[in-house]
Amino acid sequence: MKALDVKNLKVIFPVEGGVVRAVEGIDIEIEQGQCAAIVGESGCGKSVTSLAVMKLLSTPPAVVRVDKLELGGVDIRDLSDKQMQKVRGKDVAMIFQDALTALNPVMSVGKQIDEIFLAHGKENFLDESGSCPNKFQRKKEAKRRTIQALKLVGISDAELRYKAYPHQLSGGMRQRVLIAMAFASNPSLIIADEPTTALDVTIQAQVLDILKDLQKKQNTSLMLITHDLSIVMNMADEIYVMYCGKIVERAKTKDLFHKPLHPYTHGLLGSIARIDDECKRFVQIPSSLPSPMHKPSGCYFHPRCAYATERCQTEMPPLETLEGGRCVRCWNYKEIRYDKQ
Ligand code: SF4
Repeated sequence: MKALDVKNLKVIFPVEGGVVRAVEGIDIEIEQGQCAAIVGESGCGKSVTSLAVMKLLSTPPAVVRVDKLELGGVDIRDLSDKQMQKVRGKDVAMIFQDALTALNPVMSVGKQIDEIFLAHGKENFLDESGSCPNKFQRKKEAKRRTIQALKLVGISDAELRYKAYPHQLSGGMRQRVLIAMAFASNPSLIIADEPTTALDVTIQAQVLDILKDLQKKQNTSLMLITHDLSIVMNMADEIYVMYCGKIVERAKTKDLFHKPLHPYTHGLLGSIARIDDECKRFVQIPSSLPSPMHKPSGCYFHPRCAYATERCQTEMPPLETLEGGRCVRCWNYKEIRYDKQ
């Protein structure tokens, strides 16, 4: 069963003097227990996509159109805000980039995780005989589960940290708390938006290991949003590469790293270091992402593409599906031969 099934998602923001087409008709499918990464430069529409999937965009001003939006086979397009509040946290949870903003500064981190366990109602605390413990016993059990969750994400002295406020923890620890919160409700899908960007490289690797480990153990599906292809190499089963609001390539992780088809994917790969590269020459993609209000004609990537032909300047290539479900949006992918970098 698919944990997430999105078809033809479009998000538009009206702005003075026009509109910004932030997301232009994308499809995303994530099987239960799988990790899919959405990768692209800042401003390409990845975070807007995740907020649209969580139905967290204010409409208006945003205009969201989608042909299919299913979580675990359930159509959530027409759910009210109140119904969505129940879905969020229970069926789908989010890990944000900035833990300091995501956490309540005046409540201990332990109490914040307790609240998630308690919010799932009395049925979450039924004992073996099927009877429900009283409020005091439920709170005690929630605390026990919270301390266990803190230990699971590698927080030492969990009993002590339970009482700590967010500002008393390091950035890495706060991010671990967010991971514990996301997994607390055992959701079928977790959306992690740049979950380690604010951390230094060593802590980043530790936090990603914890995230991957818990995802595998709990068979949770993960949608990982990132600008950094190097962090998805060992995490994602499948990668969606996004550019200017469109998917330009979709492939299994090993296929994408082994043989990128789209020049933009090739450019992203050219800027990361890999342990198997003996003598790597780093290559930068020239220029930067165009303004979302003034996207180029034809293929949006053509002003930055070394392989652009005349047709690329006037006609948008379709997203072509190849054997095995791999997809690419490029007129010339069959002819392009990349030099070994
Ligand atoms: Fe480059 Fe043309 Fe392919 Fe676009 S369609 S990525 S401009 S070669």
